[in-house]
Amino acid sequence: MNSQPAAAAATANESGFGLSYGYGTDRGLRRELNEDSFIASDPVFAVADGMGGHEAGEIASGLCVRTLGGYPQLATGTRTATAAVLQDCLLAADARIRNATGARAGTTLSGVVVVEQMGLPYWLVMNIGDSRTYLLSQGEFAQVSVDHSEVQEMVDAGSITSEEANVHPRRHVVTRALGTGDETEADFWLLPIHEGDRILVCSDGLTGELADEHIFRILSTVGHPQDAVDALIQAALRSGGRDNVTVVVVDAKNVLNDAGVATTAPRPGAGAEDEDTLPRQEVTAADGGAAGAPDGQGDGGHGAE
Ligand code: MN
Repeated sequence: MNSQPAAAAATANESGFGLSYGYGTDRGLRRELNEDSFIASDPVFAVADGMGGHEAGEIASGLCVRTLGGYPQLATGTRTATAAVLQDCLLAADARIRNATGARAGTTLSGVVVVEQMGLPYWLVMNIGDSRTYLLSQGEFAQVSVDHSEVQEMVDAGSITSEEANVHPRRHVVTRALGTGDETEADFWLLPIHEGDRILVCSDGLTGELADEHIFRILSTVGHPQDAVDALIQAALRSGGRDNVTVVVVDAKNVLNDAGVATTAPRPGAGAEDEDTLPRQEVTAADGGAAGAPDGQGDGGHGAE
């Protein structure tokens, strides 16, 4: 980075660019274990869905988020990550999982890292497997990540519709994962952050229960990110809760645009308090969900305890 972007970044920070976010995880109503893990710690917001059973899945997903949380180039306050840095980090996670589980367990990973380029903020979206990252921006809601799954390949080939994919018997089969199999390469997208952007990261325990229209309705009407997380998890449980469900919601505010001006866009539930960015959290099912979060923010918890 030359000196000019660094100066612009400082301006952006002085202007108050900030993130507020919420998170939660629930074991669901059918599963005995919660094998999901997540990290919600600026600049990293990600969900990992472990697979392998007999607690191996939660080892895999936990190692994955801990590797992200401990990676020097993803440390708190850092805005310099790139796709290459992230892929290196994910390969390190892959190796740790293989060592720990003998390649019997794997994990998905999806989420965002907040980065700055030329002084402007971006969502660096990453994905491997079938957890998902969505973006609600300027009224438009869309899935950013593309699932690595057998049914996604069938949809891409035109042999089934996305509606049929949602109920297909092989909908849970992933074609890429960390810690197991031969395909460990993630996909990345770099998207400019706009004022009022809202990111949703979730495991398939949410998207397996709720249609995108239902998710959009909640995200676009509930103001505080933690309230949106809680509403989404409760809706997934009411719809059956057949899998572990993990949700992270991140809002961007006071975003400096390329004219150097922080614009203000209407936000869902404008007027609700939105100042309480939450502290670092790296949570695995084994840690007891989001225990330790302040003010019961983590009480999405999971019902195992
Ligand atoms: Mn799952």
